Amino acid sequence: MFKKWSFPAFFSLFLAISLLFSALSFTFLKDSKDLQTNAVAREERVIVIDAGHGGIDGGATGANGVTEKDLNLAVASKLAALFRMAGYTVVETRTTDVSLADADAKKGHVKQSDLTNRLKISNQYPQSILISIHMNTYPGVACSGLQVWYSQNNDLSAELANAVQGGVKSVLQPQNNRKTKVAITSIYLLRHAENPAILIECGFISNLEECERLATPSYQKELALAIFTSLHKKI
Ligand SMILES: [Zn+2]
Repeated sequence: MFKKWSFPAFFSLFLAISLLFSALSFTFLKDSKDLQTNAVAREERVIVIDAGHGGIDGGATGANGVTEKDLNLAVASKLAALFRMAGYTVVETRTTDVSLADADAKKGHVKQSDLTNRLKISNQYPQSILISIHMNTYPGVACSGLQVWYSQNNDLSAELANAVQGGVKSVLQPQNNRKTKVAITSIYLLRHAENPAILIECGFISNLEECERLATPSYQKELALAIFTSLHKKI
């Protein structure tokens, strides 16, 4: 036998169902709006990936003899591939072992010419985000762990730097308590970037253990994936 619904009980049920439907439709609308927003942003977004050093400028030398420029390129090209797969427009400052300095740059001005040309590439795209990839060194001390620097020229830079620092800590380096740093007087590229810009020191190649890990393609892939995922959520 059916128990008759009293009006207050029926009304409460009706109200609950109505609320549920409005919550669901709000969620779906919000999702479709987010998708649209991301799709538009992703089409316009240019990710400039800068593998630090190159050519005559090898950067630092690792504890096992590896050259920083080669590790930078290995990580940077894996990161570029991930952004491309996700539908972003990607520009790489270099894809081979070359310097970006002008051929006629005078002795003593080669490094500055190289940096100026990297900056020009990044600044020519108004909707770009610059991600520069480097390796760290610290003589005599067994320092380890990734650390991200950011430009103070754009608020998004700090947000992106924190995302990468936190993302890599959570999936790859739970012991890494390093904090992101703002480039105020150092790092030419970040000081002069017109768009959001970060520089990732992927780890210390002065530390033999970390250097060997950074030279391993499987670790480079893990690192690139952790960096990509952290940034993708924010842009
Ligand atoms: Zn470097």
